[in-house]
Amino acid sequence: PSPTIGSSVIPIINKLQDILAPVEFELSKISLPHVAVVGSQSSGKSSVLEALVGRDFLPRGCDICTRRPLLLMLENRSPRPEDGDGMVEWGEFHHLPGRLFYNFSNIRKEIQAETQREAGCNKGVSDKQIRLKICSPNVLNMTLVDLPGITKVPVGDQPSDIEARIRKMIMAHISQENSIILAVTPANSDLATSDALQMAREADPTGRRTIGVITKLDIMDRGTDARNFLLGKVVPLRLGYVGVVNRSQEDINKNRSIAEALAYEEQFFRDHPIYSGLPDCCSIPQLARKLNQILEQHIRMFLPGLKAELNSRMVGVSKELRTYGEPMESIGEKSVILLSILTKYCEAFSAMVDGKSDGMSTK
Ligand code: GDP
Ligand code: MG
Repeated sequence: PSPTIGSSVIPIINKLQDILAPVEFELSKISLPHVAVVGSQSSGKSSVLEALVGRDFLPRGCDICTRRPLLLMLENRSPRPEDGDGMVEWGEFHHLPGRLFYNFSNIRKEIQAETQREAGCNKGVSDKQIRLKICSPNVLNMTLVDLPGITKVPVGDQPSDIEARIRKMIMAHISQENSIILAVTPANSDLATSDALQMAREADPTGRRTIGVITKLDIMDRGTDARNFLLGKVVPLRLGYVGVVNRSQEDINKNRSIAEALAYEEQFFRDHPIYSGLPDCCSIPQLARKLNQILEQHIRMFLPGLKAELNSRMVGVSKELRTYGEPMESIGEKSVILLSILTKYCEAFSAMVDGKSDGMSTK
């Protein structure tokens, strides 16, 4: 199967978990970065997140679909014997505790319903988060954030300052040092004036945590391509760019699956005269690999601290061990000690039977 976000890191985390479980060390102390998407409306942000998770559950479309920030908390959970068929993965909303969604298209419906409850039915936007937890054996413990897109012209119930409001909402999520920014720009727009890249630069001036994502490479104007952009020759970016092809609106209407979309994407890049020569900067699996590398580095950064913590616990435990006396190695030594304890016991016992003592000393 294609790599999804976190997939290569799960075995490492599981191994650490096995090592740390006996000493009751909370692995949650390794707080992994959040991944947040930023870009203009309909640039493909929700599509990219969904493909990275490998499940269909986010509202997507040509209109404004994401109207509240969605905090997607992924939680790794091993399957249990009591789980029934198709019951190892589920979603649970913060606003509906205890109700488990095993059917992912119902998750999408609930996101839409909950969006309307807070932001109305007429394109209104709210900064109140929707929090959704996805429990699955195939995800890493981490948080992804889907955000409304940057719009310029108010429509429906949107206030006249809609652009400023959305920008503020986005900045609140991407300015955190602990977030990785996916700056999403559609290839069929003017790449050089990308809102996404502009906002990402504002939040992350050194470009230490921004990855450029170019969507819709399949519907670029004929005769143009994004080669120079992907290579960072137009707007340089430290962590570079990845070009992707997500599902089109037609694919969504026809219920094409993520697997089909990935197969199509692979073929698109393989057959393309230009992109076939740039395998490192193309495709959703490549984006997932890039993110996984960043997550691995992050975990590696925690390892020295973890080692120090384990060492200091080791010192404490060794100290406690010494209070129990010197270790005895040979059978001879052990026999001598045991014999002397037995002798003392017998003497005390006889003394008690003879009435010379009320009880047995415990010394
Ligand atoms: P968002 O508003 O940024 O979250 O964008 P969505 O993920 O909702 O996508 C907006 C629309 O663009 C949907 O109709 C998608 O099907 C379409 N779309 C997204 N990415 C691509 C792509 O790479 N190629 C094509 N052809 N359509 C895409
Ligand atoms: Mg969206």
